[in-house]
Amino acid sequence: MSAAAYDVVVIGGGPAGYPAAIRAAQNKLTVVCVDQWQNFDGSYAFGGTCLNAGCIPSKALLESSELFHRARHEFATHGIQIGEVKLDLAGMQKRRASIVKTMTGGILALFKSAGVVGLQGHGRVLKGNHVEITAPDGSKTVVVAKDVILASGSTPVRLKSVPHDGKFIVDSWNALEFDTVPARLGVIGAGVIGLELGSVWRRLGSEVTVLEATDQFLSVADQTIAKEAQRHFKKQGLDIRLGATVLNASVDGTAVNVAFRDAKGEHTAQFDKLVVAVGRRPFTDGLFAEDTGVKLDARGFIEVDAHCRTGVPHLWAVGDVVRGPMLAHKGKEEGIMVADLIAGLFGEVNYKVIPSVIYTAPEIAWVGLTEEQVKAGGRPYKVGTFPFAASGRARAMEAAQGMAKIISAVDDDEILGIHVIGPMAGELIGEAVLALEYSASTEDLQRTIHAHPTLSEAIHEAALAVDKRAIDSINR
Ligand SMILES: Cc1cc2nc3c(=O)[nH]c(=O)nc-3n(C[C@H](O)[C@H](O)[C@H](O)COP(=O)(O)OP(=O)(O)OC[C@H]3O[C@@H](n4cnc5c(N)ncnc54)[C@H](O)[C@@H]3O)c2cc1C
Repeated sequence: MSAAAYDVVVIGGGPAGYPAAIRAAQNKLTVVCVDQWQNFDGSYAFGGTCLNAGCIPSKALLESSELFHRARHEFATHGIQIGEVKLDLAGMQKRRASIVKTMTGGILALFKSAGVVGLQGHGRVLKGNHVEITAPDGSKTVVVAKDVILASGSTPVRLKSVPHDGKFIVDSWNALEFDTVPARLGVIGAGVIGLELGSVWRRLGSEVTVLEATDQFLSVADQTIAKEAQRHFKKQGLDIRLGATVLNASVDGTAVNVAFRDAKGEHTAQFDKLVVAVGRRPFTDGLFAEDTGVKLDARGFIEVDAHCRTGVPHLWAVGDVVRGPMLAHKGKEEGIMVADLIAGLFGEVNYKVIPSVIYTAPEIAWVGLTEEQVKAGGRPYKVGTFPFAASGRARAMEAAQGMAKIISAVDDDEILGIHVIGPMAGELIGEAVLALEYSASTEDLQRTIHAHPTLSEAIHEAALAVDKRAIDSINR
């Protein structure tokens, strides 16, 4: 064993860990970031779940499958006649893999330029902020760090009664790398990941059945938006069964048999592939020695305070492995905050203003409180909505579906929540995030000029509609 000393060691090079490492280096600290991610082909890569098996590959396939769908079903409406549109799934997957490779390789370039030492291997915290690093060849090194940041992320939840085999019963990562379009695809879980994956394969030709145990569709979202989304997904042919609890599943030859129960009783269904998308759990396997003093909560998250301190001096934890929404941008901000705090600078994450996006078509995005949350809080509120059917730009894009919705306080006009379902909702929400970050009033948005014709006018008009002063739609 040899020893080296660094100011900061970051364990995990996903969207929480790698920005922490880069910011620490920008703060003139010496930094090593160790990551153990290994792809199906055995190669190692930085970027964690997000870049290798989550945000980026899923968005690559969502984009390609949406274009395929549009070429088949929408081009004629634009007056574009093309021949038979054929799917080249191998080509589509090659593009997905190449984007992932470019993005993950980019992290190495960023590390090099910032002066971060990137190491492949397993990191384990020992008492006194020593970190044992086991390289892929099994050799061990101990690094001494002034501060250690744990950013080990999360992993898919597996169901005992639905045994994962990686071939027929799969997780979200496997489902991004299918080399054929399953004729019948079952998805357990109508959350963000289940809906995005279901959308990809539905557009590419699968018959998709989504089995969701809860009775309410997208309970995390504003229910006006959720209802609108459910209507669109149904029209797209996604068969979403609410209140459907999966009892068990087993592989029989090349098919998966699933037993589930709903309000009408017990049923069976057969699929060619079954994706389990019931959530993710924090990943801490082999992350720290028992005597380090790191505490896990009842759900396995590393316990931290609002500034991501674990309670053990100079030991921090960020990203999916700690409480809060499991989102790449939340982890990134926590990583940056911690790297700044370590350097003695100001650091803060505004947990009240974290945007959520579902990259289906139409997209769904929101920030702040839902109408249900505002109602439960008891503060008098007002609501304005604007339908994309009244947006010239959305019409021109042949994407005039959905709406923007703004919820504001009656007493001081503060904007409490902004919700969008419609074209490019994930991009539109940026303005909403800024508005909430700056504690904007509805009037602030009303008096802000929005270019015409743009989708962003929907946010402007929704703000006007809050006070029944919309121009381009009927005020109700
Ligand atoms: C299909 C899918 C789609 C998603 N889409 C989005 C999206 O559109 N937008 C969004 O915001 N979020 C999305 N997410 C969630 C997002 O991927 C996570 O929130 C994000 O990756 C969490 O970042 P992290 O750095 O905390 O953890 P991770 O990305 O999981 O990275 C942790 C890294 O640490 C490594 N590691 C773990 N333990 C050790 C150890 N002991 N030693 C060394 N290395 C270790 C892991 O191998 C991994 O590389 C998606 C997730 C999935 C599965």
